[in-house]
Amino acid sequence: MTVDYDVVIIGGGPAGSSAAAYLAKAGLKVAVFEGENFPRPHVGESLVPATTRVLLETGVMDKIEEAGFPRKYGAAWTSSQMLNVTAAQASKFTHELGTADILFSERDQPGVDRNYTFHVDRSKFDLILLKHAESLGAKVFQGIRALRADFEDPEKVTLTCRVGSSEVDITAKMIVDGSGRQTMLGRQLGIKEADPVFNQYAIHAWFEGLDRSAVANSPEKVDYIYVHFLPISDTWVWQIPITDTVTSIGVVTQKHQFAEANMDREKFFWKFVESRPDLAEALKKTEQVTDFKVEGDYSYAMRQICGDRYVLIGDAARFVDPIFSSGVSVALNSARLACHDIVAAAETGDFSRAAFARYEKTIRNGTRNWYEFISVYYRLNILFTTFVADPRYRLDIIRLLQGDLYDDEEPEVLRIMRETVTAVEEDPSHLWHPYLGTLRAPVMAPSF
Ligand SMILES: Cc1cc2nc3c(=O)[nH]c(=O)nc-3n(C[C@H](O)[C@H](O)[C@H](O)COP(=O)(O)OP(=O)(O)OC[C@H]3O[C@@H](n4cnc5c(N)ncnc54)[C@H](O)[C@@H]3O)c2cc1C
Repeated sequence: MTVDYDVVIIGGGPAGSSAAAYLAKAGLKVAVFEGENFPRPHVGESLVPATTRVLLETGVMDKIEEAGFPRKYGAAWTSSQMLNVTAAQASKFTHELGTADILFSERDQPGVDRNYTFHVDRSKFDLILLKHAESLGAKVFQGIRALRADFEDPEKVTLTCRVGSSEVDITAKMIVDGSGRQTMLGRQLGIKEADPVFNQYAIHAWFEGLDRSAVANSPEKVDYIYVHFLPISDTWVWQIPITDTVTSIGVVTQKHQFAEANMDREKFFWKFVESRPDLAEALKKTEQVTDFKVEGDYSYAMRQICGDRYVLIGDAARFVDPIFSSGVSVALNSARLACHDIVAAAETGDFSRAAFARYEKTIRNGTRNWYEFISVYYRLNILFTTFVADPRYRLDIIRLLQGDLYDDEEPEVLRIMRETVTAVEEDPSHLWHPYLGTLRAPVMAPSF
């Protein structure tokens, strides 16, 4: 049976292009079909250190370093909760309530050779990754949308793409879906499930001239990612350096808040930012340099993430709330893990679902751990900041924030956090009880 390619990949985002790089390096004949023409803007600008291993393994790291993206050495969380507690309550906390910061260098991470990661302009970052895959031998077709996949023939798959006004069929031994939140295969196969709890909504833009030191508590922390909590439940703001002078700012809240506010994007953005006067004051002195963009309905899972002759990677496989900047790291590591199984499948000629079982188990482990961490965080975010400040748990939390969470079934620190949340929920007199958030993810039995 002759096919056009060993593997065809839908989408040339970080997941698709990293998979293309791994497979081309392994000597497979691989093609990427990307619907857009790069460079194109994209949300998801702050990386975690677990991306480093993949950038090194695929050989693209030098190109990323050369691009001069701002280095990200750490992360910080700020809060206005101090405003809402009495002095007597405040004295019982060992740190400023709701605030925390960490440095990635505090913990060595296997496979990671530097103590920073990057904040990236995704139009540039994604282009570098895609061009790199091409330089390794992957065929890259831009401006070509994949329309549907046909799995009828047990010997091959056929991907139908739109080329101008016609449709073209491409055959391969298997398909990798890296189509991001468009979830091409997940939708076609009817295996996508909306998250039962998280229905978040984000509105974001770039601003020129933000004085980042106005919100940083020391000069070496100005280029951290900042997550600013607003005094509105389950609502936060990201602050991500894009260049020396441009900063990405996004408000994330529950979607119903936007619907209920009944105002346009711009008014909504400023109304929410103004709930943190310190932040609003610094932001008002800047110039907005991109239009507001919105993202909604973004949390979901797939009932299966591989099958006979296909695997789903990156956002096409699963999307969890972006509070810990996990997305690109999941995209890259899902490509790494999936390609390990794909290369083995190409050697044996067995492209059945069973051939990708290791990938499915490991990526589900990792995304479940992210999901639990995020769920605990939304439910009781001062628990997170307290654990960061507690020497018993700090390194374990940093490990999660580094994205080093694929290997354990459930990290011990997550179990302790879950149990603490339950204890607080069950005890209305607990000091933390008033701080419980409204999002109740099924962390005790994450079936999702
Ligand atoms: C509000 C918000 C904030 C975020 N913040 C962060 C953050 O700070 N850090 C972080 O790491 N992540 C963040 N993310 C997540 C991040 O954006 C994604 O996880 C990441 O982009 C996933 O990469 P991917 O390659 O899977 O998908 P994408 O980057 O979306 O790439 C998919 C590609 O597939 C193409 N495509 C889609 N359908 C087709 C088709 N039918 N045919 C051909 N091509 C197709 C698209 O054009 C696109 O280029 C955030 C997400 C949201 C919603």
